[in-house]
Amino acid sequence: MDEKINEFKDIIEKSNNIVFFGGAGVSTESGIPDFRSKDGLYNQKYDYPPEEILSHTFFMNNTKEFYRFYKEKLNALEYEPNITHKKLAELEEAGKVKAVITQNIDGLHQKAGSKNVFELHGSIHRNYCMKCHKCFDAKYVFENDFEDNIPLCDKCGGVIKPDVVLYEEGLDDNVVGGAIKAIMDADVLIIGGTSLTVYPASGLIRYYRGDKLVLINRDATSFDSMANLVINMPLGKVFGEIY
Ligand SMILES: [Zn+2]
Repeated sequence: MDEKINEFKDIIEKSNNIVFFGGAGVSTESGIPDFRSKDGLYNQKYDYPPEEILSHTFFMNNTKEFYRFYKEKLNALEYEPNITHKKLAELEEAGKVKAVITQNIDGLHQKAGSKNVFELHGSIHRNYCMKCHKCFDAKYVFENDFEDNIPLCDKCGGVIKPDVVLYEEGLDDNVVGGAIKAIMDADVLIIGGTSLTVYPASGLIRYYRGDKLVLINRDATSFDSMANLVINMPLGKVFGEIY
């Protein structure tokens, strides 16, 4: 394993055009639980599976129940960036990392200082009124008590919707386009904390044209044979070795 870490460090050292693509594993190391996980209490608390609650139809038809789940399961305001978030921000500051592409909606990359972040699934930090389009931060949504528990616009009383991509909804074209361009232009592509089974991760990798594809994941993935370097270790351990 040390040999692989050394190879990783060498790749980072020699490149000034690195793109990082991260999945849920980046955030779980900050203690953020996967919202899909169903503990013993889950079925007592919710009558529907998470994938159904976090769908567009459900949001429109059962807004109150949507927000009960959303406010309990997706509030990431109390969590802090971990070593991976921090190192990526440092590497961007140093001119080495050009973009971070993430499937997470918690905003921890920005909290760590990353600037060029493509959030494929949106962010809990952006919310808007469906009627007048006024924008609200996450604090407004998570920390205010609303009648019926549904966050309402303080200007027009309209229902607020998080700028999070729900099931049945398409990804933002500008975000996807920016991510694809970053990947196409990248010299090094590091993929971490994802098994690459979730759309669109598997599709986006196809755009990479370089010969330094690094996969960091606890377990093997079906893309391992495509990669130039595979490290089966926790992300934090690997990024903790840089510098
Ligand atoms: Zn409004």
